[in-house]
Amino acid sequence: MRIAVLKERAAGETRVAATPETVKKFIALGATVAVEQGAGDAAALSDVAFAEAGAEVASAAQVVKGADIVLGIQAPDADLLKGANPGAWVAASFDPFGRRDRVEAYAAAGLEALSMEFMPRITRAQSMDVLSSQSNLAGYKAVLAAADQYGRAFPMMMTAAGTIQAARVFIMGVGVAGLQAIATAKRLGAQVSATDVRSATKEQIQSLGAKPVFVESVAGIEGEGSGGYATEMSEEYQQAQAELVSSHIAKQDIVITTALIPGRAAPRLVTDAQIATMKPGSVIFDLAVAQGGNVEGSVPDQVVEKHSVFIMGYSNTPAHLAADASALFARNHYNFLSAFWDKEAGKPVLDEEIGNAIRLTQGGKAVHERLLG
Ligand code: NAD
Repeated sequence: MRIAVLKERAAGETRVAATPETVKKFIALGATVAVEQGAGDAAALSDVAFAEAGAEVASAAQVVKGADIVLGIQAPDADLLKGANPGAWVAASFDPFGRRDRVEAYAAAGLEALSMEFMPRITRAQSMDVLSSQSNLAGYKAVLAAADQYGRAFPMMMTAAGTIQAARVFIMGVGVAGLQAIATAKRLGAQVSATDVRSATKEQIQSLGAKPVFVESVAGIEGEGSGGYATEMSEEYQQAQAELVSSHIAKQDIVITTALIPGRAAPRLVTDAQIATMKPGSVIFDLAVAQGGNVEGSVPDQVVEKHSVFIMGYSNTPAHLAADASALFARNHYNFLSAFWDKEAGKPVLDEEIGNAIRLTQGGKAVHERLLG
């Protein structure tokens, strides 16, 4: 069983899909691991460290030759995988809705694409969940980036020269990233409030010591109806939410938006008119900027100044924490493959629940139900 790890090719990608730690663990399972030269450079993982862990460090073509499994952060182009064994698995983020062309290319190449972002949100798969591991770091980084852009301090400070007020931070969207953003802003001493459409998050916000700000006049999403995910809200709800946000946002110094709806463009939560009511020097970090943006006027990887407010967001936030993001993504890969490792067969064998959830292509065809029909 040969596992190949390539250097990521996407612009701005700094992460790597294996670490010396996971290389050792795969070898302990009986696999051989090959890592492309320089694959870990941007994540502070040297070729020497990979070699010392037991990996074969070589060129892309050599690494891929005879591979049974290829691990990636973002799926490589199928062209790069010529030489892999027929039916080789490729486990990575595939952006299946945005990159249908890549799914088709994998099918045509006879590769089996395993989409890590489709990992079901069930208890036994939590340790394999790349969306969670990466969102958590993204929520943390968003607060730090906003704090860095902000021309004032976060905590209240009583100094001999006078008192500085604590920053007011508002988190919109309280999933994995939002919860970490709340916790990070609290640790920095800010006064934190947060909102979501899912009423289950109210208690979570309170338990972190932040203030929930919720639409009360129109029902939001109760319970775990759609697997804990948000859906598109009614016009009536959107109207009520806009009014609530308008009255709250004008008093905030920092706004972090994290709202996503699976398979859809990110919902628009902050309009230009609302931004105009904020204080000069306020900062908005749009974590959804790469999915269309929650904030009017946000541009990936730029700080846009509008109405004297800074609007920012990264196209790939976890890539700004390359070492930790790689370590967690690599462990997600290891936790996934090792959970299904069949000792006798000397390879992983997926069960139906997880296999059907993540397998995009098999036997020369696209097979995932969300991509068919
Ligand atoms: P996400 O990234 O899809 O969305 C981020 C947040 O934005 C969500 O909380 C969503 O409700 C919110 N949102 C969407 N539209 C909004 C709007 N118009 N206004 C305000 N907020 C809006 O979410 P996520 O971080 O992937 O988490 C989704 C759910 O999955 C959560 O309930 C989380 O606890 C759960 N989860 C479960 C597991 C597991 O059991 N394995 C793992 C991770 C997450």
